[in-house]
Amino acid sequence: MFREVIEMSNTDIETTITQTPEKATIIEMLKGVVGEERVSDSELERVVYSGDPAVLPQYHYRWKRKYLADYAVRVESEEEIEGILKIAREHNIPVVPRGGASSCMSSSSPSRGGISLDLKPMNKILEINKKGMFVRVEPGVTFEGLANSLDKENLTLGIYPSSAKSAVIGGWIACGGRGGIGTPFYGGLKDHILSLSVIGGDGEVKLLEGDDIDILLHSYGILGVIFEIKLKVHENVREYKSFSYGFRTTDELCNAMVEITKLEVKPIYLKIADDELQKFSNPLEIGKYVLSVTYVDTPSDIPLEDLKSITGKYDGVYISDEFSKKEWDLRYDAEFNPKEHTETLMFQEFWMPVEKVSKMLSKYESYRRSHRIPALWFGMLGSHNEMRLELMAMIDAAQYLKFISSKGILHKMMKRAIKLGGGPYTIGLQNSIYMSRAYPARLTEMQEAKKKWDPNGIMNPDRVTSCLTSFRRIDVLFLLATAFRRLSKYVGG
Ligand SMILES: Cc1cc2nc3c(=O)[nH]c(=O)nc-3n(C[C@H](O)[C@H](O)[C@H](O)COP(=O)(O)OP(=O)(O)OC[C@H]3O[C@@H](n4cnc5c(N)ncnc54)[C@H](O)[C@@H]3O)c2cc1C
Repeated sequence: MFREVIEMSNTDIETTITQTPEKATIIEMLKGVVGEERVSDSELERVVYSGDPAVLPQYHYRWKRKYLADYAVRVESEEEIEGILKIAREHNIPVVPRGGASSCMSSSSPSRGGISLDLKPMNKILEINKKGMFVRVEPGVTFEGLANSLDKENLTLGIYPSSAKSAVIGGWIACGGRGGIGTPFYGGLKDHILSLSVIGGDGEVKLLEGDDIDILLHSYGILGVIFEIKLKVHENVREYKSFSYGFRTTDELCNAMVEITKLEVKPIYLKIADDELQKFSNPLEIGKYVLSVTYVDTPSDIPLEDLKSITGKYDGVYISDEFSKKEWDLRYDAEFNPKEHTETLMFQEFWMPVEKVSKMLSKYESYRRSHRIPALWFGMLGSHNEMRLELMAMIDAAQYLKFISSKGILHKMMKRAIKLGGGPYTIGLQNSIYMSRAYPARLTEMQEAKKKWDPNGIMNPDRVTSCLTSFRRIDVLFLLATAFRRLSKYVGG
């Protein structure tokens, strides 16, 4: 991830290394809140605090210098967050809350410079209450840290994003937490949050409970900073049983998947993928597409006969116990392993009703052929029988035409997803252009909330409620790019 970013920092960006008097004063003020050690304006830290795993090509940064933070600030307490937000309000400085930076789509990357506010140092587990079956945590707590502490009490949160090795709980909440490992069985994050403590962009401290919590889910840091969370926990489960089937066509795979999701017993994990993605973790020897499903291992609850008859009906072939177990073991890695084998792993994530996934996949497969896209894909069942579907392409971002045209294909796929009743999974900076088309009611709700919570507009600007460019502009750009890509097939591009 960092190679491109660091190369970029050494060569192409004209950064202002000399501090302006104003900047020096701001730094002193920030240090006054958190101390010398936890404020930096070094070029390296500003670069590291401005990116995410979906590396953007160098030319992107060349055009948009404000995509670099001016200051990196690490906070350790509610009081420190309050102090930093006060300075930001008084000096009109944008603040970008940052967890593990794994959400991509430039969710936690600046668009107007300002403060990158690192919340990872706030990683304490404040209370584990076994009687009340809840845990209170700070936003920077890691999933591993939480799982280990709960495990000692024979408890579990039960749900984790597959990015759990790098994401933190506050970041997952701000992204909505609808899909992840465990969510088909236990429900999404929304079903687990008992209360949220937040400092609004206006400096007001709020405790949210019940339906009031909804506004903070998918808020991407544009309203305020979450500093404490109370979460429901479950009794721990230690035994799981996995089953993997190979299919020849995406239709057969998806038909089987839809029937499995309708069974009374819900899996803890259900994943689909193509053979290209499998190459990098658990190569497929049977079929071209795989469906892997994992249940809590209480023999009476595993719908074994149903699985056999459903998969048999669609010519799915059971792969092996060893393959199935490996699928479960690799649940935190499979999705991102291809990243190690390509310069740029480009992707777009969709939130789709399971019934509509086959229509998405058949189209992406046809683009793979017609536009020669080095495509691969992955899907994971979330809460309420909806799927987080990830369509990817392994492309070197330095090959401008190939990069931009493949992005164009993903844009076309987004338009299709919206028509089919789905939409973007992560909004962030890049997908804000789709808000009005995919989630118009939510857009209005968030615009109202933004006015109330952040009247100065300092919190993570240019995403969710507003964007830097228009849908129409992007649409024309990508239309041209995909047309060129198609033509390049005939002229050897
Ligand atoms: C390999 C991979 C697998 C993934 N798997 C899943 C998955 O299974 N399920 C899923 O839902 N998502 C998944 N994601 C995307 C997912 O949204 C993120 O991984 C995770 O939720 C983000 O957490 P983070 O700590 O990295 O947040 P960041 O990326 O740092 O931040 C996300 C957003 O939240 C804001 N934010 C961060 N902390 C706070 C806070 N304390 N208060 C207010 N705003 C805040 C940021 O400004 C930003 O807008 C995956 C991503 C990758 C790369």
